[in-house]
Amino acid sequence: MMEFSRLKLTSLFPSREPDVQKEPTSGFKFGKRSRREMKGVHPTLIAVTTRALEISDVDFGVTAGLRTLEEQKRLVALGRSQTMKSKHLPQEDGWSHAIDLLAYDNGKVTWEISMYAAIADAMKQACIEQNVSARWGAAWHQQTIGMWKGPMEELMNQYVDIRRSQGRTPFIDGPHFELT
Ligand SMILES: [Zn+2]
Repeated sequence: MMEFSRLKLTSLFPSREPDVQKEPTSGFKFGKRSRREMKGVHPTLIAVTTRALEISDVDFGVTAGLRTLEEQKRLVALGRSQTMKSKHLPQEDGWSHAIDLLAYDNGKVTWEISMYAAIADAMKQACIEQNVSARWGAAWHQQTIGMWKGPMEELMNQYVDIRRSQGRTPFIDGPHFELT
């Protein structure tokens, strides 16, 4: 008689061990503002972000999720966003598919890009564990960050090199992550 093991979902990341899960070690927790900003964000992205905070070396909060059309128009006018096709706008399913994170260094807000790369490392790990495809705003060319084998800072440098080789200015949005 043949025995059948439970069917496994096909993984986006076949080369990765799906059962190697990091212990939640960071001790970081989302505050009130972060929880408020996550309302309207796709549950898959909330799950990945929540998992990332558990394993992140850097503390972070959520500063933006769902945006209205008016808010997006304003950000484009200010040059803080480049597109009216932003994934922060309600997508077909009604959810925002994008989220903006803010890094804290010893409780203080920091814009140091290496801190955002560290957050991206945690987001990548969470994406692999949960089999989610997402992109980072400092490496737009990589549609699925879980496929990248190295540190996320290297992926960002690769993006910058590609843009420069094309004679184009890199658009680095370190806080931004989106489902793809
Ligand atoms: Zn964003």
